[in-house]
Amino acid sequence: MPSQSIPTVIASSLNMGCHMNSPQSLDASKLTYAYTTTPQPVPDAETLAKNHKTLCTDHMIVASWDVETGWSAPQLKPYGPLSLLPSASCLHYAYECFEGLKAYRGDDGKLRMFRADQNVRRLQMSAERISLPEFDADELEKLIYELLAVDGAKWLPKSRAGDFLYVRPTMIGTDPQLGVTRPTEALLYIIVGYTPRVDTPLGGKRLLTSPDDMVRSWVGGFGYAKVGANYGPSVKVSQEASRLGYHQVLWLYGPNGDCTEAGGSNFFVIWKRKDGKKELITAPLDDQLILNGVTRRSCLELVKDRLGDEFEVTERKFTIDEIQEAAAEGRLLESFAAGTAWFITPISLIHHRGSDINIPTGPDGTPAEITGRIKGWLGDMMYGRVAHKWARVVSEKEF
Ligand SMILES: *Cc1c(COP(=O)(O)O)cnc(C)c1O
Repeated sequence: MPSQSIPTVIASSLNMGCHMNSPQSLDASKLTYAYTTTPQPVPDAETLAKNHKTLCTDHMIVASWDVETGWSAPQLKPYGPLSLLPSASCLHYAYECFEGLKAYRGDDGKLRMFRADQNVRRLQMSAERISLPEFDADELEKLIYELLAVDGAKWLPKSRAGDFLYVRPTMIGTDPQLGVTRPTEALLYIIVGYTPRVDTPLGGKRLLTSPDDMVRSWVGGFGYAKVGANYGPSVKVSQEASRLGYHQVLWLYGPNGDCTEAGGSNFFVIWKRKDGKKELITAPLDDQLILNGVTRRSCLELVKDRLGDEFEVTERKFTIDEIQEAAAEGRLLESFAAGTAWFITPISLIHHRGSDINIPTGPDGTPAEITGRIKGWLGDMMYGRVAHKWARVVSEKEF
């Protein structure tokens, strides 16, 4: 088509935003409510722990997108199966991205979310990476709060202070299309898992370094995006680690063995540098190998802010050999993994190519001093023991 200006008539109808051809944006104020008529019983903690499938709460929120019309009005409806054609693009070309965040039942009876604004922005970034549509992140955040406002009180009653629900916003390509092209239809949905409490394993986490012939992500790839394609293929190595008695894989990258992530969590080391300065170190974001964790960022910001006199806070490449050397010279102080799913877990051992690197922890693998302080600061915000701008209360509905 020759380049020319848009005829005035069409231009004005575009501006009015109500023309058929003007795609609608995601709008939480259009949410409709269809409550379940078959509410599920909430199992007790013991029954839940025995269940190997994720139990979801009574409701979900869905919004569909079409390249012509944009976003549909979001619907809150009973949790249940989706209807997809077998040719749906997500089933063939991994058009899937997701987020993982938690709603925490506070000691004061209130339900809170932690920095959800960061998660919805990260989902935008992940969607962009796999050619899924744009959406207004603030609107998605409102929808997340709304779903918890409905399901929170029943699934996480005030008597269960200290527990959480796991929130999983997801976007998939749904167009029946076997050609590898940009999806023209998509579905955004939010589900809430009622999952058992996770505890730091007794003795601390033990990591096994990834083998030479496997990487989680690579320069130029998509390891920085929370896209489903990053996770399924990592399980083969983690299964092997688990068979050998380790909790998680420490993913190394490149000929020098750069430390990137510990399973699905960001990886931190606290050591004394050769110049005697104490340092908190984690892998950098600039080569796009790792996930930009909300917990990671929070740890970095808090330590800079509250322990900045005592600790240098560094994001740079560092290798497994540097950790080994620090351990041998008695400079290795602590290590932990940080992420929403497992929160802050102390690492007590890394096994690398036949040798063990032992890392100090508190008694029985509990957090040592700095790990414990970071965990305490974040936990206090999440469970409302201290007020902080990162934690926001869900206004729960009374039924
Ligand atoms: C989600 C995730 C993390 C942790 O991110 P948080 O925002 O802190 O939950 C770290 N690494 C990977 C690979 C992840 O998928």
